[in-house]
Amino acid sequence: FFQEIPQAAPDAIFHLTAQYKADTDPRKINVGVGAYRDDSLKPYILPVVKKADAILFNDETLDHEYQPIAGQKSYTTAAAKLILGADSPAFVEDRVVAVQTISGTGANHTAAAFLKKYHKQGAICLLSKPTWANHKAIFNNVGIEVAEYPYWKPSTRGLDLEGMLGALEKAPEQSIVLLHACAHNPTGVDPTKEQWQQIADVMDKKKHFPFFDCAYQGFASGSLDQDAWAVRYFVQRGFEMFICQSFAKNFGLYGMYGIPEIGSWTGMINLTTGLSCLFLGERAGNLTVVTRTAQQAQHVLSQLEILQRSEISNPPAYGSRIVDLVLNDKALYTEWTENLKTMSGRIIEMRERLFEKLKQLETPGTWNHIVDQIGMFSFTGLTAPQVKVLKEKYHIYMTENGRISMAGLSSKNVDYFAEAINDVVRN
Ligand code: PMP
Repeated sequence: FFQEIPQAAPDAIFHLTAQYKADTDPRKINVGVGAYRDDSLKPYILPVVKKADAILFNDETLDHEYQPIAGQKSYTTAAAKLILGADSPAFVEDRVVAVQTISGTGANHTAAAFLKKYHKQGAICLLSKPTWANHKAIFNNVGIEVAEYPYWKPSTRGLDLEGMLGALEKAPEQSIVLLHACAHNPTGVDPTKEQWQQIADVMDKKKHFPFFDCAYQGFASGSLDQDAWAVRYFVQRGFEMFICQSFAKNFGLYGMYGIPEIGSWTGMINLTTGLSCLFLGERAGNLTVVTRTAQQAQHVLSQLEILQRSEISNPPAYGSRIVDLVLNDKALYTEWTENLKTMSGRIIEMRERLFEKLKQLETPGTWNHIVDQIGMFSFTGLTAPQVKVLKEKYHIYMTENGRISMAGLSSKNVDYFAEAINDVVRN
């Protein structure tokens, strides 16, 4: 039957990266990709992760045995505490459980599959308009219908609170509502505390289910607690919820660490462990669940384990060991928070430099949103035709919706980038 299978379109972001790589112009800039880069535009291995790597390589008690189905408890608990706060009433009352997932995407998928099986039949999932492109695919894959709530308001380049509240009010009771915990992707626009309160009011009234996606904790404001504020507020208000956590961005654990990247480490590995070939799968994520009672929490965990068993049996060890080590060690944890500040600080600096340059060039339009938005992404407001010119004339690559990743800018290319924007906006 394979003859029936049509060719699918390439993934938009990965296709963009391929086009960028093939471009030979030295001025080229890639602001499409959602991975952090340092000021030399190189992938960044967090110093604390390097340290954790070295500790793990030298730990002779570690082996390649199966992990528990839900992942190591030390890892899932530390991850849950990171988002909820160790003093969360949910912990005190023993109504938090968690399972390790294949990064944030896996957390979204496992949560969605669970909801399909156990949530009110026919419930829809409301997604912000726009949202991370994968959300719709993930929910559709498990058979959950999605609808959109207004989020981005082009006229203010900010949040469409009224539209959002109206849509939540109109949606059928007990809908699933996907909320970005912080650093909304792709807009970089987060609700204020007062706005979160209004969102919680409607969600409470309509008995909607909060589905938090948290891919950027510590990466947005630089403060792990501040970035967790919305989730903790919803817990305080007594909601039950899912929280999908990714350690891709905040630990720089995007994919796989292989021999070619280890370079000079190879010798050390050979000496200490005798291994000559290492491919270390990372993809560390966590699905944290807050229920209303301790018994419910245990029931949910037991069903999540059944689901996990049929999907991946056991989660991969390596990335979670790094995260486990860092979250559970005071000195490493402190160092991690410093590394986070390095990343978020550079992003904030790029926002400021871009904004200043556009102001200096007197580029038509308002550009305050560049510095007001938070996280790695900024929704510039550039139109699809402008994006096209930026690519063809300036070798600047971004997604069609005008979203840019601040991590693609550096002290060396930010002026060129601003001048290119200035040109396309004027012409
Ligand atoms: N949710 C959002 C909103 C994201 O931006 C991302 C990363 N692009 C993810 C989830 C998951 O990413 P990962 O699977 O790499 O952890």
